[in-house]
Amino acid sequence: MAKKPSGGPLTRVQLLCEIGLSPQWQLREQSAVALAAPSVPVTLPDERCPAMANAIAAITELPPPPAATAVPAFARSQAIAGMSWEQLQHSVAACRACALCQQRRQAVLGVGDVAAGWLFIGEGPGAEEDARGEPFVGPAGQLLDAMLAAIGLQRGKDVYIANAVKCRPPNNRTPEATEIATCAPYLQRQIALIQPRLIVLLGRAAAHALLGEVGSLASLRGQTFSYPAPQAGGHAIPVVVTYHPAYLLRTLTDKAKAWEDLCRARRLMRTIQATGAQAAPSLPA
Ligand code: URA
Repeated sequence: MAKKPSGGPLTRVQLLCEIGLSPQWQLREQSAVALAAPSVPVTLPDERCPAMANAIAAITELPPPPAATAVPAFARSQAIAGMSWEQLQHSVAACRACALCQQRRQAVLGVGDVAAGWLFIGEGPGAEEDARGEPFVGPAGQLLDAMLAAIGLQRGKDVYIANAVKCRPPNNRTPEATEIATCAPYLQRQIALIQPRLIVLLGRAAAHALLGEVGSLASLRGQTFSYPAPQAGGHAIPVVVTYHPAYLLRTLTDKAKAWEDLCRARRLMRTIQATGAQAAPSLPA
């Protein structure tokens, strides 16, 4: 029982302590604070009620809740690597493997011809894509459609469009490296299922997702990379990099460079079609 201070009437807290109610009354309030904002220092009640102080101390020292059981990354990648399109769609829609799931309206897997020769890969869904469930449907998407049309392509006809991450990063920020890595098995499975003849990476996040840690976009343009795709019949798939359409909307002066890149991609594709070539290193730039 709490020690009665000498002299004077008991305070309300002391009185509640004396009748054995105070810890319960105070604890609910205090524990809510402790759980909701553990970094906020919790003010212990004054020393006139040690029972309450001890009880609160016990609550603030509770061990953290056990972490959600995570599927080991390798097992998850292996499982995704064996998925059909339908399984992939369901898995992506239900995915909670990174924090991006918390604010998405829906995950956006991709759109287009699942046997396409051309695979275009962007960064991640924006607000409109998140709302509609399809990649590149906002202003950047309109520019992408125009870019496709300029080289005789059309969304959905021999073209598949995907993103490095399937969930919208909050405030359209660039996806973080860990988010790109967590989503990579989905992109890899899409590539394995589509087996495209040429991959066009739109912007640095897409380049990061497929080529790993990479330099500036300017340093990647003009090269033909090779994506080893053991699941795609053992062939390496040629990869080219160009500017992201959203960047081009802000930087009109670089549109001409993107046009050069697209023309080069079209030449590459013609060579691939003419020769049946797949291995990137032997292809002309
Ligand atoms: N930007 C992207 O990278 N992808 C989209 O789907 C939309 C905008």
